[in-house]
Amino acid sequence: MPMPRISRRVGAIAESATLAIDAKAKALKAAGEDVIGFGAGEPDFPTPAHVVEAAAAACREPRHHRYTPTAGLPELRAAVAAKTARDSGYQVEAGQVLVTNGAKQAVFEAFATLLDPDDEVLLPAPYWVTYPEAITLAGGVPVVVPTGAEAGFRATVEQLEAARSPRTKALLFVSPSNPTGAVYPRDEVEAIGRWAAESGVWVVTDEIYEHLVYGDNQFHSMPVLVPELADRCVVVNGVAKTFAMTGWRVGWMVAPTDVVKATANLQSHATSNVCNVAQAAALTAVSGDLACAAEMRAAFDRRRRRIHELLAAIPGVACTEPQGAFYAFPSLQGVLGRELRGRTPASTLELVEVILDEARVAIVPGEAFGAPGYARLSYALGDDDLVEGVTRIAQLLEEAKVSSG
Ligand code: PMP
Repeated sequence: MPMPRISRRVGAIAESATLAIDAKAKALKAAGEDVIGFGAGEPDFPTPAHVVEAAAAACREPRHHRYTPTAGLPELRAAVAAKTARDSGYQVEAGQVLVTNGAKQAVFEAFATLLDPDDEVLLPAPYWVTYPEAITLAGGVPVVVPTGAEAGFRATVEQLEAARSPRTKALLFVSPSNPTGAVYPRDEVEAIGRWAAESGVWVVTDEIYEHLVYGDNQFHSMPVLVPELADRCVVVNGVAKTFAMTGWRVGWMVAPTDVVKATANLQSHATSNVCNVAQAAALTAVSGDLACAAEMRAAFDRRRRRIHELLAAIPGVACTEPQGAFYAFPSLQGVLGRELRGRTPASTLELVEVILDEARVAIVPGEAFGAPGYARLSYALGDDDLVEGVTRIAQLLEEAKVSSG
């Protein structure tokens, strides 16, 4: 047998279920069609002006034209440690911070550093699609723990314990969650953290949406509530969502120093330091106050209430109110299997295609997150587009209701 052109490891990476719909939406837009996109997981705001200015100034300074240490600018690592203590109450040293190319690289490297072949990682679903790929690429095995709307899309200690095996190395925890907008209350974060600490299970906890919680919800950092977990805990975070800096690619992990050292070795051979100028921008962002973040949160909160109200009013659509992040995650099961403009979508994968073709609105099918029957709509888009987009979906789905009698 000839050797395969593409390695089995990379060849096995699943094509994102969002790609087809995204490519189609872009093609329609390029052809001049009026497409409204709920797909992007990024704030629609520009990066705050003082952060942009700091980057512009750094561009003019030759010391920002050079490599930094792999783990990041020393002043940024110190500022991230201080910011972590300020925002979540987790007291850490600069030496526990590794600056990465977005939180995504921190997720990828955390699993690369922690997992040996066949080690299992408990992964509550619906999940952000990068998690299972990062686990698998590291040689690990994602063990999916399904959660449903009736449970607020939150996993319980009982479920995690039932899924635990002698091969369980880690739990992936994220609150607020992409794609569901779920936020775990304090007692549940604490109970899960305590269970992990007692079971010897590591926790990779993704805190990227820490500042995007609404109403009475509060963000809680697991290693703060369960200090004995700290020695087996990797916190993932970054500037992307809080400061509207998705394109700058600055994230980090906060971890025990042996993990940071090992991961820095890995990163030194893969990507080296994060862009020096982008690190200077991130330094300004995390060192300043959270006034601009609060302004953006107020806009997201307004849109959250609007999109929930509009979606929940559509017959056949059920939508739990998102508590955090900037995603609504409605169930569309009630409209599947009905005729719609001559087609009968049986899955959300097919339904989102009909919605794009007929209503010119792009949404992401739940299949992308291990949750068929649901769809994700980001509400990080303008208020008018939001109302127009959901109204178009409602009008289209209304036809399905009528034609089915
Ligand atoms: N974690 C979660 C839960 C996310 O939704 C995202 C972005 N979609 C990331 C991490 C990655 O963020 P970054 O842009 O910093 O890589």
